[in-house]
This record gives sequence, structure tokens and C-alpha cells, in this order.
Amino acid sequence: MTDRVALIGKPLKRRHSVVMHNAAFAAAGIDARYELLEIDADAVPGAVTDAHRDDWLGLGVTAPYKRLVAGLLDEVEEDARLIGAVNNVVRKPDGRLVGFNSDAPGFRAGAELAIGRPLTGLNVVVAGAGGAAHAVVHALVNAGAWSVTIGNRTLPATISDIAAVAFDSLEFEAALHMADVAVNATTVGMLHPGMTIPVDELRPDATVFDLVYVPFETPLLAAARARGLRAANGSEMLIAQAAIAFERWTGVADMADVMREAVAPLFADTAAGA
Ligand code: NAP
Repeated sequence: MTDRVALIGKPLKRRHSVVMHNAAFAAAGIDARYELLEIDADAVPGAVTDAHRDDWLGLGVTAPYKRLVAGLLDEVEEDARLIGAVNNVVRKPDGRLVGFNSDAPGFRAGAELAIGRPLTGLNVVVAGAGGAAHAVVHALVNAGAWSVTIGNRTLPATISDIAAVAFDSLEFEAALHMADVAVNATTVGMLHPGMTIPVDELRPDATVFDLVYVPFETPLLAAARARGLRAANGSEMLIAQAAIAFERWTGVADMADVMREAVAPLFADTAAGA
């Protein structure tokens, strides 16, 4: 019997997860497949019910269902509950479905790789207050960042008891001046032109981390590199969060290298503007 994992969401335009997880199943010698399940909201409860069957390892969950799914599961882990988003579900041997969030540890792994040191003790600026920003701020607080300043277009917005400030506020400008790391956790650079972080305000030793990975090089990252700053996109976060989910479904760890190699052609396509 071939085991299954499906990514539920709508629309599902990207194949990065399919490619990474199916490569990892093949490399681990596991008879399972990861598929895309683009469904409307009214079909989500049925998909969750199906995933209780014993040929399912779990589910991936993406926009706009990360909150909706949480209310349909047997259990939601505390981190996912605090973040307010379930992006993966694991089916336990007794059939219970448990929701978790791999974006927060995925961000931590990707950001620490980019910076070259732990997030502990760092001053961090985060642009955005949506689902991804919730995972980022949760990871930063857990990692013991010294300060976290959130900027967002729409106010009020609060994450982990931190009130967001306006992008054009003095508070945001002051935080940029002392930031070790500046993170873009908005859709700007992917869905919208422009950039959220004025890189000229950053110190020369700051790192810019953009969660966006399509396009591979956003205007923000290009501007940061042009200023000589360290800069990284969201590709390593994507790979790290996928490897964490894969381990939860299969018990097989350390699949990041297999996933990175498998997904590289998709990143190369977007780098070329395809
Ligand atoms: P979301 O929940 O829809 O939040 C969108 C955020 O972007 C909000 O803060 C929104 O501000 C802001 N925004 C949208 N348009 C804007 C504009 N024109 N100017 C300024 N701010 C704007 O989206 P999400 O799920 O958090 O995803 C955010 C990004 O993270 C996406 O690009 C996604 O691909 C990426 N992501 C990457 C990974 C990874 O593994 N690398 C994982 C998760 C997400 P308002 O509150 O004002 O609307």
C-alpha cells in the first residue's frame, strides 16, 4: 500500500513541496507519495476526515486553510496554537491527527544559516504581521532575540504581545539603525513591487533575510547585496521546514540535502525569471 501526504490549499501554484518530499520518499526507500490537493473551503473537512485512514502519513496545509484546519484536528501542538497557524498535520499510529507548525523552526534554521550564528541576543526587525510573521516572531522570542520590532502596513497589529509600528515611524527607523537582522515577512517582492526595508538605514554588518523565494532574488535582496550586506532569501527556510515535517511523518531525519538538490532546478527557473 502506498502511503500518502497531500498539501491542501487554494490556489496551489508551486511544486516545490511536491518535488522535495517525493525526492525524500525515494531517497529513504519509503513507498509513499506527496500530492497537491487544491480544494475549496467546504471540501476541507472531508479531506481531514479522509486523512484519518491508515494509508495517510499526514497533510501539508497552506493558504488560506492554516487556521481553518486547526479547528478540525484531534490536537494542535502548543507552538502552532500560539502562532495561530497549522502548516502540517501528522497522523499518529492510533489515527489521531495532530497539527503542528514547521515554519517557526524552519525560519530559525534558515536565518541562523544566513547570519552564521544563533539568533540569541540579536536585535531583529520584522516587516509584516501576517501568518509567516507570526511564525518568525514566535521563533525569535523562543530563540531569545534581544529585541524584536515589527513594522506593518495595517495597524493595529500585535504578535506575541509586541505591537507593530508603522513603516514610516521613528520607532521603526531607530530599530533599523541598531538591527543585526532585518526580515521581510510580507508578500512585497513576490506579489507586489517594491521593498519593505530601506537598506540604507541598516548597519554595514546587518543581515537581510527575505522569506520570499519566488522570485529567487527580490528587489530587497538585490539592494542589500548592492550595499554589501549579507542577504538570503527564503529557500533555506522552505527546505528546513519541509525536512522537519518529513521527519515527523516518517521518522527519517536529515533529508535537507536530498530536498535541496531536488528543488534546485525550480529555484534556478525562478532565478532566470521563468
Ligand atoms: P499573509 O498572511 O497574507 O500576510 C501578508 C503580509 O504582507 C501582511 O503583513 C501584509 O500587511 C503585508 N503586505 C501585503 N501587501 C503589502 C504591501 N503592498 N505593502 C506592505 N505590506 C504588505 O502572508 P504570509 O503567509 O504571512 O506570507 C508572507 C510571505 O512569506 C509570502 O511571500 C510567503 O511566500 C512567504 N513565506 C515563505 C516561507 C518559506 O518557507 N520561505 C514560509 C511561509 C511564508 P497588511 O497586514 O497591511 O495587509
